[in-house]
Amino acid sequence: MISLKELLNKSKEEIKEIKDEILKKAKESDINAYIGFEDGGDGIPILIKDNIQVKNWSITCGSNILQGYIAPYNATAIENLKKNGFAPLGRANMDEFAMGSTTESSFYGPTKNPHAKDRVPGGSSGGSAAAVGANIAIAALGSDTGGSIRQPAAYCGVVGFKPTYGRVSRYGLGAYASSLDQIGPITRSVEDAAILYDAICGYDPKDSTSANIEYKPTFPNLDPNKKFKIALIENFVEEASEDIQKGIEDTIDALSKRGHEIIKVKMHNPKYYISTYYIVATAEAATNLARYDGIRYGNRAKDYKDLKELYFKTRSEGFGEEVKRRILLGNFVLSSGYYDAYYLKAQKVRHIIRDDFNKIFSEADIILMPVTPNVAPKIGELSDPLEMYKSDIFTVGINLVGLPAISIPVRKSSLNLPVGVQLVGKAFDEINLLSAALSLEEAISFKN
Ligand code: GLN
Repeated sequence: MISLKELLNKSKEEIKEIKDEILKKAKESDINAYIGFEDGGDGIPILIKDNIQVKNWSITCGSNILQGYIAPYNATAIENLKKNGFAPLGRANMDEFAMGSTTESSFYGPTKNPHAKDRVPGGSSGGSAAAVGANIAIAALGSDTGGSIRQPAAYCGVVGFKPTYGRVSRYGLGAYASSLDQIGPITRSVEDAAILYDAICGYDPKDSTSANIEYKPTFPNLDPNKKFKIALIENFVEEASEDIQKGIEDTIDALSKRGHEIIKVKMHNPKYYISTYYIVATAEAATNLARYDGIRYGNRAKDYKDLKELYFKTRSEGFGEEVKRRILLGNFVLSSGYYDAYYLKAQKVRHIIRDDFNKIFSEADIILMPVTPNVAPKIGELSDPLEMYKSDIFTVGINLVGLPAISIPVRKSSLNLPVGVQLVGKAFDEINLLSAALSLEEAISFKN
């Protein structure tokens, strides 16, 4: 399929023809990546995850509780897209409220991996990644709270880019865990990721955590010939499967041939990542999801005798199992007897994790590590929630410290499934991160 880069110089008519063709292909596809088509106006068509507001479109965050809710305004990322010649094309499937790693928890049913229909596309932005991987979207927007852009991109053989926390406004993004959430692009190439990122990012006074610091567009300033010192996290690689290890080996060869220097380092506290992330994320989620009470948004239970029962029934019927589990966990870690022991401690550990990353960045420009412990699992394989949480080991630490990271496909596994690797940059240093990513992409020449 054509790339965003190629499309930038096409006429309105040519873009319209391409858009019609995509819509037709998407409707015929059997992977359940799109869950809605609505008119988003003229422009280069971009698929939008179901948790980013597009004015007058339905937005459900993949949940029953938001059925019938219509977005009253555009998310800032959508406003920015439109200003730059892009147009929202349709809704992508996702895990309910972005909680998950497989897109199996969606109210609309699971999305299938385009490379193997009995496997998951990853999550939570599984619809976005599967559609780009299946050639039924040129590019898509996703959101990444603990890996939800990078991990599905890796499973579907495409590029997934999570910018530095604060670079892309969260205004109009359905909140999961506000100190971790970040919108970003899922594309077929690093250059397309840079183009889409440039279009959506920028300071926004409507988001109190938006970064008001100088910004230089990345796409025109990418330099794939710049040489970097790249730190490989050795103890992460040891924990990954053989297929992933081979992907890392190929990456090291390719980067070395391009003249980058590879150094080997260790990450000190990875054993705390999953617990810290799932304490912080569920605490924030329990708070954010308290607003879905049957009064203000979407679905409302039918029969109730008083206000309390209205809340109770609406939430019991509206939320799925995984969301309920996380609300319970979040309220538990925030409760008065446990707040210090869990939530406060997790916030302290976040600083320790930040120190670990800072130490590595005092020696290197970029970090290289796996995205996932293995290739895409089979549908149903991660039905034990703890097993699913553990599969986030290589992505969540980066959200806890807010760094930019990109997942790039590098090879096919023994089962012909895509293998991705992850490059992590210094905060707000998207240009160098994307330059290194472009250099790797050119050297490795992966075919989806
Ligand atoms: N899998 C992680 C979770 O379930 C990350 C999800 C995300 O990034 N939205 O929380």
